[in-house]
Amino acid sequence: MANITEAEIRKIVENIIKGNGASAGASWTSTEYQGRKLLGIYSDMNEAIDAAEKGYFAVRAMTVEQREKIITEIRRLTYAEAPIMAEMGVAETGMGRVDHKRLKHILVADKTPGTEDIVSEAKTGDNGLTLTEMAPFGVVGAITPSTNPSETVICNSIGMIAAGNGVVFNPHPNAICTSNYAVDLVNRASRAAGGPEILVCSMDKPTLDSAAVMQSHPKIKLLVCTGGPGVVKAVLSSGKKAIGAGAGNPPVIVDDTADIKKAGKDIIDGCTFDNNLPCIAEKEVFAFRNIADELIAEMQKNGAYLINKEQADRLNAVVLEEKTNKAGKTIKTVSRHCVGRDADVLLAKIGINVGKEIRCIICETEFGHDFVQHELMMPILPIVRVDSIEEAIELAVKAEHGFRHTAHMHSKNIDHLSAFAKAVETTIFVKNAPSYAGIGFGGEGHATFTIAGPTGEGITSARSFTRKRRCVMADNFRII
Ligand code: NAD
Repeated sequence: MANITEAEIRKIVENIIKGNGASAGASWTSTEYQGRKLLGIYSDMNEAIDAAEKGYFAVRAMTVEQREKIITEIRRLTYAEAPIMAEMGVAETGMGRVDHKRLKHILVADKTPGTEDIVSEAKTGDNGLTLTEMAPFGVVGAITPSTNPSETVICNSIGMIAAGNGVVFNPHPNAICTSNYAVDLVNRASRAAGGPEILVCSMDKPTLDSAAVMQSHPKIKLLVCTGGPGVVKAVLSSGKKAIGAGAGNPPVIVDDTADIKKAGKDIIDGCTFDNNLPCIAEKEVFAFRNIADELIAEMQKNGAYLINKEQADRLNAVVLEEKTNKAGKTIKTVSRHCVGRDADVLLAKIGINVGKEIRCIICETEFGHDFVQHELMMPILPIVRVDSIEEAIELAVKAEHGFRHTAHMHSKNIDHLSAFAKAVETTIFVKNAPSYAGIGFGGEGHATFTIAGPTGEGITSARSFTRKRRCVMADNFRII
C-alpha cells in the first residue's frame, strides 16, 4: 500500500468508531489528513484556477505515455485507499454504506477509461488527408456532489487528465474533506509518477460564491457539473460550454413474463446499493397486478420490510419536509437527515425496530404518492400495481419526470422491453439486472459517476472532455 500505512488506516477507523473524524476535526479537515497537508487545496478560487492552469500546461507538455503512468498510479492508490475514502465519506456526510462505497471506488479504479478513449480519425480522398483529433479544452471547472464525493473526483480526474485537461473542483460543502482527500490522492499519484505535485485543485471552503467565480472565470473553458437540477441549471446559464449530469428518478417495470425471483433480488440489490444514493438506483416499481404479491414476497426474502399505508404516511411526514420556495409556494423537499440512511434507522423514526438484516423498506402506494414522485435517495421503495404494459409505461414515464436519466425493466417480452425503452428515452436502460449493471458493475461497458443526460454526453469518459480539431493536408499524404 502506497503512502499510507496499515497503522494509519487502523487509527482512522478507531477515530470513526469514537465519533471523531471530519465533523470533530480530529483526524482530518478539508486541508489536512492526519497532520499531513493535502496537496492542491486553496482558499481562493482565483488562486486555485491559476494552479490548475499550471497543471494543464504540465499535462499538455506530457507524452500520452506519461499521462497514462499518472492514471495507472491514480488507479493503484484508489484501490489501496478505497477503505479510507469509504469510511470518510460515510463519517463526513452521514450517508451511504462503507462496504458499498469501497466497491464504488474499486469500480472507478477498474473501469474508468484512460487515454485509450482518445481516438483520432483520418479521412483520405482525392483531395488528400484530413485528420481530426480530440483536443483538451484547457482548465475544466468541475462541481461534484455529496452522494459520490471522492468517486466523482477520481473518475472526473482520470477522464479529464487522460484528455489532457487541468481541473479545478468546487465540491459539495457537506463532503469537502472526502472530496479533498481524493484531490490530494490524484496529486500524490501525479508526484509519484513523475508529474507535477499539484495537478488538480480544490477549495478548502467551497461555496456558491466560489462556484460563481469558477463559472465566470475566463481561464475556465469547460464546466462539468454533477448534481441536482439547481446546479445543472446554474452551469447551463453560465454562457460557457457545460456538461450537466443531473437528477433522476429511475422507475422499474416488472411484467408477468419476468423471472420474479431474480427480479425481486435484483431490484432490492440495486435499490439498496449505497443506501440508494446513486442517481441510477431503482426509485419506484410498477408491477403487473398478477405477479405483485409474488414480487413483494421475493423482495421480503431479500431483506425488504413491508410497511402498510398508515406507516408509509408517517414515514412520509419524516423523510419529506415542507418548505416555502422563493415564489412563496409550499414545496416538499427530502430531509437531509434521512437521505442515504440505513433502512433500520429510517424505520426507527416511526417506532419500528428491526435489525441490520433489513436493508430496504417497501410499501404499496398509489401513483401520486410522494414516495413515487420524489427522488428520495433512501432505501424506500414504493410499489404501484398496474394492469397492462400500456398503463405501466405511461405511469413510469411520468414518474421519471422527463429527466431522461435511467430506467429499468424486468421482462422476457421483447415487445414490452422495446416499447418502454423507446417511450422513456433515458440515457441508461437496464434490462433484467440491478441498476448498477448500467455503470459497468456486473454489466458490460465503462464506469462513470457523471451521467450527462441533459447535455447529451451520456456515460461520460475522457472523450467527453475534449474538443475536436481538424488538420487538412490538401492533395497529399495518401499512400494509395
Ligand atoms: P446538489 O445538487 O445538492 O449538489 C451538487 C453540487 O452542486 C454541490 O457541489 C453543490 O454545492 C453544487 N450546487 C448546488 N446548487 C448550485 C448552484 N446554484 N450553483 C453552483 N453550484 C451549486 O446534489 P447532491 O445532494 O450532492 O447530489 C444528489 C443529486 O445529484 C441528486 O439529484 C442526484 O440524482 C444527482 N446526481 C446526478 C448524477 C449524474 O451523474 N447524473 C450523479 C450524482 C448525483
